[in-house]
Amino acid sequence: MQGEYIPDVVGSDGRDFGKTVCIITGASKGLGRCLAKEIALLLKPGSMFFLVARSGDKLRELQAELAAIRAGKAGLITRCVVADLGVKDDVDRVVGEIREAASDIIDMNQLLLINNAASLGDISRFAKSFTDVHEVNAYLSFNVSSALSLTAGVLEVFPRRQELRRCVVNISSLCAVQPFPSWVLYCTGKAARDMMFRVLAAEEPDLRVLNYAPGPLDTDMLLQARTESGDAGVKSSIVAMHSQGQVLTCQQTCSKLLRVLLDDEYTSGTHLDYYDV
Ligand code: NDP
Repeated sequence: MQGEYIPDVVGSDGRDFGKTVCIITGASKGLGRCLAKEIALLLKPGSMFFLVARSGDKLRELQAELAAIRAGKAGLITRCVVADLGVKDDVDRVVGEIREAASDIIDMNQLLLINNAASLGDISRFAKSFTDVHEVNAYLSFNVSSALSLTAGVLEVFPRRQELRRCVVNISSLCAVQPFPSWVLYCTGKAARDMMFRVLAAEEPDLRVLNYAPGPLDTDMLLQARTESGDAGVKSSIVAMHSQGQVLTCQQTCSKLLRVLLDDEYTSGTHLDYYDV
C-alpha cells in the first residue's frame, strides 16, 4: 500500500549505487517488487529503472509507490515494461526499450541487472512424467533461455567502458545445488542458470556476476510450493517451515543481497546463499 512501506535503509551509512541503470525482471510482486523499493533509495538522481513483468497494472502501481518512496530524492526515471519473458518477441522488445532509452542516459556509472523472474513450473509431477518436449522447452525458454538472451542483449547495449561498473545478478535457489523430488523443471532451470552466469563471469572479467539464493520467502511462489508439491516429503517440510515461522520476509533477504552488492567483495560468478553471509 502506498505510503505504508517502511524501507530498511541499507544505505544509511551513506553508500549507494551511484547513477545507475537498474533492470529488474519479475518486479510486479514478491522479491522483485521488494528489491525495486529498496534499490530505489540507493540510486542517485538521473538513474533509470526498468521494471519488467507481465502484470502491467501491478508494475504501474509499483511505479507510483517508488515515486512516493523517493519523495524528496527526485530524479528517478521509471519505465514499466510489460512483457512475457517466455516469448522471444517480448524479450527482444525489453532489450529494444532499454536500447532506446540508453541514448538519453548520460554520465551513468553503474549497470545493475537483476534476473529475478522465474516460475516453479508443474511441481505436482515427477520427472518420469515429463514426456512432452514442448512442455519442457516452454519452461526452459522462460526460466533459462530468456535470462541469457536478456542479459546478452543488455550487455550489448552497455558494452565495457572504463567508468561503467556492470553487475549482473541471477536470483538463484538452493534448488540449483540440491535435488528436490517433483521439482525437476525448477531444479534443472536453477542449476542451468547458475552455470550460465558462472560461464559469463569467467568470460567477462570486468563484469560482476552473482548467483544469489535468497532463502525461503513468503511469496506466491512459496504458497504454490506448499500446496502443489507432488512429493509428500517436500510438501510437508515446506508446510512445517512455514507454520514454524522459518520463512524469511522479502525485506530480510533484500537487505542482505544489497549489502553484498554494496560491499562488492564476492568472487564474480559465485553462488551465495542467504544463510552463508
Ligand atoms: P513470485 O512468484 O512471487 O514472483 C515471480 C515474478 O516473476 C513476478 O513478478 C511475475 O510477474 C514474474 N514472472 C512470472 N512469469 C513471468 C513471465 N513469463 N514473464 C515475465 N515475468 C514473469 O516469486 P518470488 O518473488 O518468490 O521469486 C523471485 C525469485 O526468487 C525467483 O527467481 C525464485 O525462483 C527465487 N526464489 C524464491 C524462493 C521463495 O521461497 N519464494 C526461494 C528461492 C528462490 P507477472 O506474473 O506479473 O509476470
